[in-house]
Amino acid sequence: MNKQDITNFDEKKLSSLLTGNPAYRIRQIFEWLWIKDISSFDDFSNLPKSLRNKLSSLFYLPAMQIKHQQVSEDGTVKTAFELIDKQIIEGVLIPDGKRVTACISSQVGCNVQCSFCATGKMGFSRNLSTGEIIFQVKKLNSIAQSIYGKHLSNIVFMGMGEPLLNYKNVLRASVILTDKNGLAISPQRITISSVGIADAIIKLANEKVRFNLAVSLHTVFDAVRNILIPVNKQYPLDKLRKALQYFHSKTSNRITLEYLLMKGINDSEKDASALAEFTKAFPCKINIIEYNPVKGIAYQKPEKESVGKFVDFLKSKNLIVMVRRSRGKDIDAACGQLATKINRHLRK
Ligand code: SF4
Repeated sequence: MNKQDITNFDEKKLSSLLTGNPAYRIRQIFEWLWIKDISSFDDFSNLPKSLRNKLSSLFYLPAMQIKHQQVSEDGTVKTAFELIDKQIIEGVLIPDGKRVTACISSQVGCNVQCSFCATGKMGFSRNLSTGEIIFQVKKLNSIAQSIYGKHLSNIVFMGMGEPLLNYKNVLRASVILTDKNGLAISPQRITISSVGIADAIIKLANEKVRFNLAVSLHTVFDAVRNILIPVNKQYPLDKLRKALQYFHSKTSNRITLEYLLMKGINDSEKDASALAEFTKAFPCKINIIEYNPVKGIAYQKPEKESVGKFVDFLKSKNLIVMVRRSRGKDIDAACGQLATKINRHLRK
C-alpha cells in the first residue's frame, strides 16, 4: 500500500483510520504534527511503540532536512530545505528588535516569471503541500529559538512562489498556524503576499480571512506591469483595483502595497502621482523597497534622490509610506533574490 502524507488528514479522518485509539491519543498526534519540530514518527515519544509503528506503516511525514544555511552580516538567516522528493526551497529569518519574521515559500520555483525576480528564472516544479508549509514554519521556529533565543513573531508568504496560486494549501496552512491547538500565531501576524491574482483575492475576501494581504504592485501602468509581472495581462490593474476594493469591503483590512523602486522604470514623479491616484480606491499602506540587483537581470537600483522625491510626494498626499530596508542582501536573501545561488551551489 502506498503511504500517504499524514498531514492531509483531519482529526476525524485520522480517528477513523486508527480505530481503537482514544481521542487524547489522536490529539497527541496532532500536537506533534502542528507544533513540534519532528522528522520521524519515532520522535512521537509519548505514543506507545505499537502506535508509532502503525503510523509509519500507513503514513509519511512531510519532513525536510536543512541542506544549507547562510547568515548575513545584519543577522538575517537564509536556510535551504531539502524536501522529501529532493527538491529545494528556501526560508528566511529576519530579526528586528523583539520580532523575528519568517519569510516562507509556498511553491518550489514559480511560474509567474516576474522579470525582476530570481525565483521566476528557476521555472516551476510544484506546489508545497499544507504539511510542507507547516513543517517549514516549525523548522524556522526552531532555528529562530536556537539562533536568536526567540519564537517567530510574524510570518510572511513572501519567499519562493506565488501563494495565491497554491490557494488551498496556503489557506489551510494559515488556518492551522493560527489554530489554538497549533502554533497559535495571531492572524494579524500572518501576511499573504501576492502579485495580484484578482480572482483569488476575491475568493479570499469571501472567506473573510483575518490575515493581512500584501500586493506587489510595482507600477500602476499596465504596459509596464505586463513586462514586470506577466500575469498582469490576465489580471490587469483595473481588475486588481476592484478586487482590492472588494477585499477591503469584506475584511476591513488595510492592504499593504509593495512597490519595488527601479531606476528609470517606475521611479518618476509621474509614477508617484499615478500611484497616489490608484490608492484612492481603498485604505492602504505603501512599502517602498529599493531594487536589489540580481545577477543576470538588467534592472538597477534607484538613485537616492529619486527615492526621496518619490516618498515625499506620496507623503504629501497623506499616504502611509514606509521605506523598507532590504535585509540579507549579502547572502541573496532580500526580496527577489531567493533561489539562484543556492540552487546552483547545491547542484554542484
Ligand atoms: Fe514568483 Fe513572486 Fe518571483 Fe514573481 S516575484 S516570479 S510571483 S516568486
